[in-house]
Amino acid sequence: MTDQPRDAHRRLREQLGVYALGHGTPEERAAVRAHLDGCAACRAELAELTPLTGRLAGVDPDRLDDLPAPPPELADAVLARIAAAGPGPVDLAARRARRTRWAAAAAAAVVAAVAFGAGWLSRPLPPAPPLEPVAVAVVAEGVRATADVVPHTWGVEVKLSGAGFTAGQVYRVTVLDEAGRDVPAGQFIGVGAEQLDCNLNSSVLREDAAGFAVLDASGAVVLSSTF
Ligand SMILES: [Zn+2]
Repeated sequence: MTDQPRDAHRRLREQLGVYALGHGTPEERAAVRAHLDGCAACRAELAELTPLTGRLAGVDPDRLDDLPAPPPELADAVLARIAAAGPGPVDLAARRARRTRWAAAAAAAVVAAVAFGAGWLSRPLPPAPPLEPVAVAVVAEGVRATADVVPHTWGVEVKLSGAGFTAGQVYRVTVLDEAGRDVPAGQFIGVGAEQLDCNLNSSVLREDAAGFAVLDASGAVVLSSTF
């Protein structure tokens, strides 16, 4: 058995909380329904989740952080009472009561975790950053490379992929800005014939970046790119 069906099943199982809360796209809900028809384990899990959904229906996952924290004096009061009680004979009733309180706290934590998970799962994924392929001119023999750049608010990122960078040698990457300055964008170590994928970040904004270059330990240009 490959991992594929197991992964698919895990994903469906993760959807159960979302489904129980009535969230998810029509397609996702239909997929969960179809799966539930043939999977007793997931039906049982859904049956366990369903009683929780009534309590969660009114909870906006985005506002969980706004829930009031217990007042700080509560902790002091509890500590004072423990100190006052001191070491004494084991009181089974008190111990049982304590255990009940712990169970209630654990149940509340589970409810919060489910609410958080459901909120997280139903939140849309952030869009993938736009990759802009750029032409790479390789100077050094035996090196092959491709590159994409990603514009960020803090500067441009160069995603460099390739092979043939001398193993153990430190390479330096600079981004050329429009004023003709070479701005450092980081370093990497060559891994020889092995495939190398690395992300290099510079403080030059995409609109101010004119290209980049990879230099070897002696400062010679190994490859360069003009945007
Ligand atoms: Zn299942």
